[in-house]
Amino acid sequence: MTADANKERVAIIGAGITGLYLAWRLRQKGHSVVVFEKKDKIGGKPCTGLVSERIKEYMPIGDGLYQRRVESVLVHFEKKDVRIKVNPAYLVFERRDLDNFVYNLAKGAGAEIVFNHEIKEIPDGFDRVIGCDGAQSRMRRILSLSEPVFRLGTQYFVGNEGPAIEMIEVWPKKFDYSPKYGFIWKVQKVGETEYGIIGPKEDGAKEFEIFLDKQKVELGSPDVKAALIPQELKLPKSEKITLLGDSAGMTKPTTGGGIVWGLKAGDILADCFPDFLKYRRKARLFFLPKILKGKIAVFFSYFLGRFLPFLLPKTISVDPDLF
Ligand SMILES: Cc1cc2nc3c(=O)[nH]c(=O)nc-3n(C[C@H](O)[C@H](O)[C@H](O)COP(=O)(O)OP(=O)(O)OC[C@H]3O[C@@H](n4cnc5c(N)ncnc54)[C@H](O)[C@@H]3O)c2cc1C
Repeated sequence: MTADANKERVAIIGAGITGLYLAWRLRQKGHSVVVFEKKDKIGGKPCTGLVSERIKEYMPIGDGLYQRRVESVLVHFEKKDVRIKVNPAYLVFERRDLDNFVYNLAKGAGAEIVFNHEIKEIPDGFDRVIGCDGAQSRMRRILSLSEPVFRLGTQYFVGNEGPAIEMIEVWPKKFDYSPKYGFIWKVQKVGETEYGIIGPKEDGAKEFEIFLDKQKVELGSPDVKAALIPQELKLPKSEKITLLGDSAGMTKPTTGGGIVWGLKAGDILADCFPDFLKYRRKARLFFLPKILKGKIAVFFSYFLGRFLPFLLPKTISVDPDLF
């Protein structure tokens, strides 16, 4: 595929999943795309790899790419256990495999991907620039947008703890001093068990220790990975520069997951391209009600789970992406 003369020259900052997906989409439309990545290779982002089956609507994911399919999650509210049936189901990925897959799509479509190239200012020589540079986005700062709310996601990996009884379990936590909610999770994967916690940056480790103590879990010396999760939609009113994915705070208030939201926004952007103001309008129209809906759902479920558990049904069916 070649870029023709009246198509745009596009710089994408960041070769994470959203940057590579957008590179693929824009190459399909014939634009010339260069992706700048500060690291020397793809992948390495801390991520549990739970992505709804909806991902297949965005890219040709084969059954061999994920470990398994999970239809429900057991949530241990403070005074009641509730089974959440997820529809569409979750697929469990090794995140690096997913990143490599999207990298091959972008590369195969003719996107140029430049490694070891950290962008510190707006690159010259491009008609459009798109920041896909993650939670601590340099592009967001260059655009003088305020920082979003951050939560911290931390993962602890240990060898498999015997046969998987429940594939995914979740313990919601209300961090006492903070209006921000969080939760602890346990996911059984091939060869390892992942525990994790998402919550306010300041107090995750302490909350996690209390949890381990209560559950009588001994983790030994787990491998630990952590990264910030932004949560607050941030899109500039610029015709030349915009943001996508974590750099724009596109994560779900329920779980902090951002992959399907980033891909959906990537589609909106590719459809509106090169009209960034239209993209901003459409993305806000799509995501703002879902952010509100997610926050209300979290608040009420935690409240009921804590104070009025008899009002919570034993099983609830939800769309994990809030679509
Ligand atoms: C512990 C944890 C668990 C998670 N689990 C899930 C999950 O199970 N499911 C889910 O959907 N989501 C999950 N998420 C969220 C998900 O990982 C993110 O939403 C997703 O990775 C966002 O993709 P992105 O491409 O926007 O950003 P990123 O994946 O962060 O990619 C940004 C890229 O930009 C590069 N970069 C940054 N700055 C520059 C620069 N100045 N110049 C050049 N390159 C730059 C970075 O090196 C990186 O490669 C989790 C997050 C955490 C922290």
